[in-house]
Amino acid sequence: MKEKIKKFINHYVKEYSDRKEIKTKWREPIVKFSNANDEMFIKLKEIVNPTHALPKDFLDDAKTVIAYFIPFDESVVNSNLKGKYSSEEWAKAYIETNELIFNVNKYIKKKLSDLGYKSTIIPATHNFDEDSLMSDWSHRHVAYIAGLGKFGLNNMLITDKGCCGRIGSIVTNLKIERSKRTNNEYCLYKKKEICKKCVQRCVNNALKVDSFDRHKCYEILLYNDELHSDLGITDACGKCCVNLPCSFTNPVSKDIFGGN
Ligand code: SF4
Ligand code: SF4
Repeated sequence: MKEKIKKFINHYVKEYSDRKEIKTKWREPIVKFSNANDEMFIKLKEIVNPTHALPKDFLDDAKTVIAYFIPFDESVVNSNLKGKYSSEEWAKAYIETNELIFNVNKYIKKKLSDLGYKSTIIPATHNFDEDSLMSDWSHRHVAYIAGLGKFGLNNMLITDKGCCGRIGSIVTNLKIERSKRTNNEYCLYKKKEICKKCVQRCVNNALKVDSFDRHKCYEILLYNDELHSDLGITDACGKCCVNLPCSFTNPVSKDIFGGN
């Protein structure tokens, strides 16, 4: 079943990417699975937000959480290297990927329903409290539980295909064997206290080695939203994800800076 779900998601993303009306290109997704009763979900109430949802809040008999990372094509990432504000391509990719995630979830929901299983569609974003800026379903943390990657100093999940892309998740009552989580770090700072390039790239002093000012960060996201208001909701920035050793890959496994 694992392979079937992976195939469904990969096939859907490839087909979507080829549509004439879609501007963004994506690389092949990574798909992982977690047990919906994993005790880590309860810990998210401490780590992320006391109101963070549990899989069973979406489905009473939830068995599995499917988490996937859809990496942006290099062209999207490279468009966002220069300047203080996000590129039009990056803003567009943000919107189109959110729509893609919604459509992937709808597609998987239909496939699972055809097989006699239930699942829920969770939007890719905007499920957060505007005052605290905390999410009630953090796709990044859910993806971490599924073993998709590890957090970097830039607060992004670094996967085997880097951190430039977006994460989606689906809760289902289909039982699927969980994927393994690794103990290894994927961030060069967390592994060897080197790099810190993401901090140097932050455009509003929001990201520091020992702190993150989410309100300063949100200022930039809102500015970008205004800047690209013709495209829809584009509260994204991404400057601390691009032009980094972890943009496209897990730099620790590639041993980019030598040693391990
Ligand atoms: S740029 Fe370096 S320090 Fe920052 S998240 Fe990536 S690997 Fe870690
Ligand atoms: S998203 Fe932009 S403002 Fe926020 S931490 Fe990254 S670079 Fe800084």
